[in-house]
Amino acid sequence: MDRRIRDQLNEEYRLQRERNAAEEQRRREEIRTSAPRVWTLITQRQDMIERFCRQALADGAFQPSEAALREANAAIRDALVQAGYPETYLEPVFRCEKCRDTGIMGDTVRQECDCWRRRAFELANTVGQRDESFERFDENVFPETVPKGRTITQREEMRRLRAYCEAYANRYPEQRPRDMLLYGASGLGKSYLLHCVARRLQERGFQAELISAYDVIRVMRDAYFGREDDTQRLYDADVLLIDDLGMEPMMENITIEQLFQLVNVRRSRELPMVFSTNLDTEEIRQRYTERLASRLFDRTLCQVIRVVGEDIRQKSHSALREQ
Ligand SMILES: [Zn+2]
Repeated sequence: MDRRIRDQLNEEYRLQRERNAAEEQRRREEIRTSAPRVWTLITQRQDMIERFCRQALADGAFQPSEAALREANAAIRDALVQAGYPETYLEPVFRCEKCRDTGIMGDTVRQECDCWRRRAFELANTVGQRDESFERFDENVFPETVPKGRTITQREEMRRLRAYCEAYANRYPEQRPRDMLLYGASGLGKSYLLHCVARRLQERGFQAELISAYDVIRVMRDAYFGREDDTQRLYDADVLLIDDLGMEPMMENITIEQLFQLVNVRRSRELPMVFSTNLDTEEIRQRYTERLASRLFDRTLCQVIRVVGEDIRQKSHSALREQ
């Protein structure tokens, strides 16, 4: 496998595991504050485990009571359900059951997980060889359920988002605001839409450069170290579309500076940019500093759109691609 793809996959999976851990922490905190009965049972179980450990240390022959632990776990599950939560609410969170978001399956025979291979394949089929277009975009692959905190279904939301993106590409250079940033979890169709926008612009005869954030940094680093200067297309393209912001390697004093400079130069020349990212706004602030984040989120210059819903990539990737 290409090293760049492997690096990017490692970074994506690491980020996913970080996100899982944060979600587990958030759920525990939620239970602690809003389901006190469950929390009491958890504290009692913790006390019991500590008691077992102390006894085992004092008396080497002591056996912890598995029956008592099982009972305590069952009581916690029941209390969760009674409080209106799924009984698995406090179990480890992960997107892929098979590899628990490590990308690797199996203990004795270790092999790459299917999710890892699928994503590697996707990354290997880069821009230019793919055939995403608004004509082939099929919102029917998105579920007709209403995502948490929203009032319309994910499918309707995608229909509107698609319409917005298509209008953006059709209206260029008159579209306002000039820039667009799509953020939300992976597998919601953001990259697909970026490809559609790039293709439509190209069909209209404009120079639209679609490039992953990973490659943006690679191109800039090559120029910086005098290897090869291919940065002109980043600075001069009519529209620059940066996919997967947040997946580029973070090198101190380099990555942020270079992105900052790119954004500033293009803004000063009134050349549009489109971004997609799996990071949420808080993660963007943390990763890129307030200085760059406030540039990206400047709503007078950039339409910031949050994409929500269920990951459709695993079940219907083929439908998106081959329909
Ligand atoms: Zn997996």
